[in-house]
Amino acid sequence: MTSANYDKVFVQLKAKPAILKKYLKHSAPKQRSGGKAKYKCQRCGRVGAHIQKYGLHLCRHCFRELAFELGFKKYD
Ligand SMILES: [Zn+2]
Repeated sequence: MTSANYDKVFVQLKAKPAILKKYLKHSAPKQRSGGKAKYKCQRCGRVGAHIQKYGLHLCRHCFRELAFELGFKKYD
């Protein structure tokens, strides 16, 4: 089990409510005060290449896919 995506655990533990309760009590990720793991992409959970500007909180890959829909224009 990886710590990269915390939500993946719930898919497996949905059928086991007692174990899920125990997991939430003891294994929930701690609140980060600093470091690169504090800022994750809200869309895919990636840690690297985080774009915080304008409150986007996306990685560069997701930004590239969504930029046109968000109203960004590419100058060429
Ligand atoms: Zn992303």
